[in-house]
Amino acid sequence: MTQSKSENPKKTAGGKKGQGSTQKVRLATVWLGGCSGCHMSFLDLDERLIDLAAAVDLVYSPIADVKTFPEDVDVVLVEGAVANVDHLELAEQLRERSKIVVSFGDCAVTGNVTSLRNKIPVDDLLTKVYHEGPGAVPRGGETDKVVPALIPRVLPLHQVIPVDAFIPGCPPDPERIWTAVSALLAGEPVVLEDRMRKFG
Ligand code: SF4
Repeated sequence: MTQSKSENPKKTAGGKKGQGSTQKVRLATVWLGGCSGCHMSFLDLDERLIDLAAAVDLVYSPIADVKTFPEDVDVVLVEGAVANVDHLELAEQLRERSKIVVSFGDCAVTGNVTSLRNKIPVDDLLTKVYHEGPGAVPRGGETDKVVPALIPRVLPLHQVIPVDAFIPGCPPDPERIWTAVSALLAGEPVVLEDRMRKFG
């Protein structure tokens, strides 16, 4: 994992209330073009989630019913690659509103599984899936234009917005997630051992 910003989210968050503030770090997690496996691995932190809950306010996440990405987020973990126009918009929004943006898992870091469709032009892909696949063309989706349009190529997050840190893995195992997140929340440099820097 690399980290290009040295900003201390805890110190910065505490600074809003002045010296000695106990204000929690504002943590968000985002699900773009991924399978949710990275979030499942995050939940596998198990009892460490209790320690995490003591240190953070979870202000936005697929596991919380929050509709709009909030202002003034300290750390955001982003699962998944950028695959459609909604992902593009959310990526830009979360960058504007967050101090530290983390590419969370191989799809965010490299495109990974989500980018397997990159060799196929979008129109050909939609035709294959919706018009030549088995069964009837489903209602909604591409037929009714109610789902966000695919962008021509799936992109890793850092090709869309500046990213401050990377956690590889498909999914990253709980140990490396905890190593990275606990360091980020403490405002310390994140150092992953070699065995934690592998993809897949
Ligand atoms: S990195 Fe792996 S586990 Fe995470 S979203 Fe992508 S495919 Fe799923």
